[in-house]
Amino acid sequence: MDAWYRLSEEEVIKKLKTSPSGLKKDLILSLQQEYGKNALKEAKQKSKFAILLGQFKDVMIVILILAAIISFAVGEHTDAYVILAIIIGNAWIGYAQENNAEESVRMLQQMAAQYALVLRDNHPVKLEAKELVPGDVILLEAGDIVPADARLLEVSAFKTEEAALTGESHSIEKITDAIDKENIGPGDQLNMIFKGTIVSNGSAKAVVTTTGMQTEIGKIAGLLEVGEQKTPLQKRLAVFSKQLAVIVIIICAVVFGFGLWRGEPAFLMFLTALSLAVAALPEALPAVITIALANGARRMVKQKALIRVLPAVETLGSVTYICSDKTGTLTQNVMTVEKFQAAPDKDELLKHAMLLNNEVRYSEEGNMLGDSTETALVNYAVNKGHSKEQSDNSFPLVSKLPFDSNRMRMSTLHQDNGKWLLFVKGAPVKITEVLAERYKDQVPKWLELNREWAADGLRVLFFAYKQLDEKPGQITEELEKDLDFLGMAAMIDPPREEVIEAIKECKTAGIKTVMITGDQPLTAYAIAERLKMVAEGSKNTRTGAELAKLNEEEFAREVRNIFVYARVSPEQKLNIVKALQHNGEFVAMTGDGVNDAPSLKQADIGVAMGITGTGVSKEAADMILLDDNFATIVKAVKEGRRIYENIRKFILYVLSCNLAEILTIFFTPLFGLAIPLLPIHILWINLVTDGLPGLALTSEPAEKDIMQMPPRPPRENLFAGGMIPKIVLTGVFMTVSVMLTQAWAAKEGYDVQTQQTMVFTLLCFIQLGNALSVRSSYHSIFHATIFGNAGMWGSIILTVVLQLLIVYLPFTEAIFKTTALDWKAMRMILLVTGICILTIELIKYITNRLYRKGK
Ligand code: ATP
Repeated sequence: MDAWYRLSEEEVIKKLKTSPSGLKKDLILSLQQEYGKNALKEAKQKSKFAILLGQFKDVMIVILILAAIISFAVGEHTDAYVILAIIIGNAWIGYAQENNAEESVRMLQQMAAQYALVLRDNHPVKLEAKELVPGDVILLEAGDIVPADARLLEVSAFKTEEAALTGESHSIEKITDAIDKENIGPGDQLNMIFKGTIVSNGSAKAVVTTTGMQTEIGKIAGLLEVGEQKTPLQKRLAVFSKQLAVIVIIICAVVFGFGLWRGEPAFLMFLTALSLAVAALPEALPAVITIALANGARRMVKQKALIRVLPAVETLGSVTYICSDKTGTLTQNVMTVEKFQAAPDKDELLKHAMLLNNEVRYSEEGNMLGDSTETALVNYAVNKGHSKEQSDNSFPLVSKLPFDSNRMRMSTLHQDNGKWLLFVKGAPVKITEVLAERYKDQVPKWLELNREWAADGLRVLFFAYKQLDEKPGQITEELEKDLDFLGMAAMIDPPREEVIEAIKECKTAGIKTVMITGDQPLTAYAIAERLKMVAEGSKNTRTGAELAKLNEEEFAREVRNIFVYARVSPEQKLNIVKALQHNGEFVAMTGDGVNDAPSLKQADIGVAMGITGTGVSKEAADMILLDDNFATIVKAVKEGRRIYENIRKFILYVLSCNLAEILTIFFTPLFGLAIPLLPIHILWINLVTDGLPGLALTSEPAEKDIMQMPPRPPRENLFAGGMIPKIVLTGVFMTVSVMLTQAWAAKEGYDVQTQQTMVFTLLCFIQLGNALSVRSSYHSIFHATIFGNAGMWGSIILTVVLQLLIVYLPFTEAIFKTTALDWKAMRMILLVTGICILTIELIKYITNRLYRKGK
């Protein structure tokens, strides 16, 4: 078979049994069955069974299994069974959570799928790239990621970047002619495009030749590894957990040795030491972090923020600057032409230009597809009684130079009754630059009108044309000179109402908001003023041209005070991010175009547009706004702050509880009291308190003033803000309370088993109280949102009921070696629990006064 690049366009079409207007719909199904999905195979995802099995690899579980075996061997069968039950309980909770987290991540990956614009039955449809089959005709424009290998049929200034495939970093200009050479590599097949490469310029129509693993990239990529990403927090915690583990094991060894020395039974001490290790090891920490992050990402999707990389969830809370595009993000992207002014006698021709000089297409349902600026122009002319079809027939398209945000204009060449007609539209200054000399005197007048309109927040476009007697070759910058003025049109794109509120919220949250737009300064400023982004009367806008004159240091100084940038090119956007970062800012930056990828990558949080964004920008982003809305970024930041705070709360809770357990077991015997807790008690407390209330903490709703705090410094220590003193003080106080209670019980003449039951119940209750207290980092437990977390209350009630059952049911008493407590003992437990909760609150209050900055 001849290679595709050697065949002419017609031959390729014939061979693939398709047509330039696309495949017939009824063929698709059989083709899909024949060729399969147009996807690169991914390395297998973790199966549910693997996740379940993974739970038993945990050090803690291994220790427990060991303990169960030994218990059984020495004849303590009940102990062995209970430990077994606890192992299963633990594994089940771990499995359910991890499975949940995996599913969240999978869902996120699926939602970030790539799309392609395909002609089927002569109508453009947007499909997931994996649905493509050979023979499909695809339409491509700058910023698209090529969805499959394809042979080009039509090109307009079409260039691709094929570094992913060939390593060649320059854009390659593509052609449609057949190439009569044998055995040339993909890099030289200029009439072909390849899956995974990037359209850097222009537009094209192509027919898909190969899909999925048969594509060039499929052949070299083999399996696509979706590597697990560890967030900085996860990495730090993994290290921390290991260090803590060493300390815990040493303590356990000491407890064991000391018990033996005191003459306790060796087996009991061995089991105690093991249980203590299990209870105190913070091995659940990294797992809980993953769960919190993944669930957070899932919640963000519900709010229309799709997270592409998990670390973004964690770092969002640190954002100090949000740099946003204007069109569509701050505004509604619903453009309507409000002003229209044709040059004398050019009214009709201007409307033809509005209908023709664009990339607008109609979908099967008759809806207009395309850029909102251009659909607004087409709509205007259509409403004035014109039709795109008529214009297309009167002036058939010959070639075009698509819009490009660096050039800020677009040109189309048409036939005109044996002659040729060039239409050019674009930003006012870009058009006036290329008008013929004779218009020189009139230009100031038009620019004045432009300024007037722009000051009302309108986007203004100028139109020009040129009649040619002879057919020119390609459209070049040379051809776009000496033009005749055709007229101007201006459109309004109203600001999004919700953005005003979001910007206000950013102000209280210490986040600066910046508008970066390709539009002219006056338009940009008028919109910024309406959004209350700038203080009234502060005309502090800068244009790209002004920025270009500054050196690096001046630039870094300037960016501190500028909140509106106009006429900015993508390269300058990159410089703005860098300058802000140079000043120590943590920057979220939006972008949608093909050239925005570098600034999205450079930004700490790159944000792409889900609706209007190009494939390339989405690929480069950390987060995708499914509704293109600025307010969604702010919601995501808030969510990010909430998640981080909750992780801190969880750590505070778990470490202070674990500390109390260790200290109680370590110190009580030193004061001449009996062993305070039996191994099963420790395991039980670990299971119920760390497990349920701990997890409920990660879904704690945001504190109501979370957006009134300054952003958290990105490199701030996890334990900042007095967390260590809080952990130590809380742990020590709980220990002292428990020891005093046991001492009281001993003095009152309660036997050892009752003493242990009391300590067991008291520890369980205090830990639940602690969970309630850590729910808010800044406010007291009696704060208005005390019932804000149903999961927390559910798990507290459940735990209390279970605890009472264990203490009072004869059957469980036997298993847990407890005794039914009398009212006097119970009263004491409740009293001490109350005192503990109040004291923990006091500790919170004092440490906050001492350590908390800001607010
Ligand atoms: P923002 O940066 O606010 O999102 P934008 O991305 O639409 O705006 P660009 O697309 O870079 O900005 O447009 C820059 C300028 O180019 C616009 O101000 C306008 O004058 C001109 N322009 C925009 N769209 C077109 C188009 N389709 N054809 C010709 N000129 C255009």
